[in-house]
Amino acid sequence: MFFQTNQCTLRREVALSGVGLHTGASVSLLIKPAPAATGICFRRVDLIGKPVIPARFDCVVDTSLATVVGLGSARVMTIEHLMAALSMVGVDNALIEVNGPEIPVFDGSAAPFCNALIEAGLKRQRTPRNFLPITSEVTVREGDSYIRACPAARTNILYTIDFPHPLVGSQSMNFQLDSQAFRRDIAGARTFGFLNDVKRLQERGLALGGSLANALVFDDSGLLNRDGFRFSNECVRHKILDFLGDMSLMPHTLIGRFEAYKAGHALHNRLLRKIAGTLHAGAYAMPATLAAVRTARLPFHAPFGKPAPAGF
Ligand SMILES: [Zn+2]
Repeated sequence: MFFQTNQCTLRREVALSGVGLHTGASVSLLIKPAPAATGICFRRVDLIGKPVIPARFDCVVDTSLATVVGLGSARVMTIEHLMAALSMVGVDNALIEVNGPEIPVFDGSAAPFCNALIEAGLKRQRTPRNFLPITSEVTVREGDSYIRACPAARTNILYTIDFPHPLVGSQSMNFQLDSQAFRRDIAGARTFGFLNDVKRLQERGLALGGSLANALVFDDSGLLNRDGFRFSNECVRHKILDFLGDMSLMPHTLIGRFEAYKAGHALHNRLLRKIAGTLHAGAYAMPATLAAVRTARLPFHAPFGKPAPAGF
């Protein structure tokens, strides 16, 4: 489905509800079909004026613990697992009504979202999907972390993590982008954390919804989850899941080879901003349909006085 050339939306609405990982808030989602070139947009139906927040890299306002999009004072937190599922199932256009500040975490993976979206089914639309091949190398760095994007005929992700923990350590995985492979090898990988960090976060009023039901939690030497791992390298698989969710915030489907080393949401977002900057400089061919996307999305920005960035 991923390589289908036309944009898709859902055949019917999808209703989900659950608890947010960081806020602990109970939130209901209604994922609705949307016209071509809408992209993925959130609507905070619990706030005055029901503001719409596009799920775009240039609306990302926080990446410290999760990917957070916002416009004005409206926020939607922890969108990355849902975004990965939408992107890999092949949903280009959807309006997601949400009655709280954070997307539910469910089991900490993308599998519950994938299952619900697949059950609803896809509806093919008339407008072609926008692809953006990487045409020259783009690298972002922070300390010893980096992501390098290079030209390639097919999208490939090599992700490496390195945590000083006996059950994690250095893990590296190469993932050739494929919808079926995503569902089999990546979607079920759960988010993870370290007990000391979880305690610190909870003292700051974060990770309030976190539990062994929705995250792998490590203490100094072991794993607290009694059922163990779903994959021996579940952590790096989850990082690929996060990466795919964050990359889907580009209004086009990127094609290239990505090498990420000890990266995270912040660096993922910096990569997209750098690619967008390069686009503005004319280094990438603009898909013919880009103007239509820009026009279709502008009204969401206009009320807040935030123009779409040059080049989009
Ligand atoms: Zn994650």
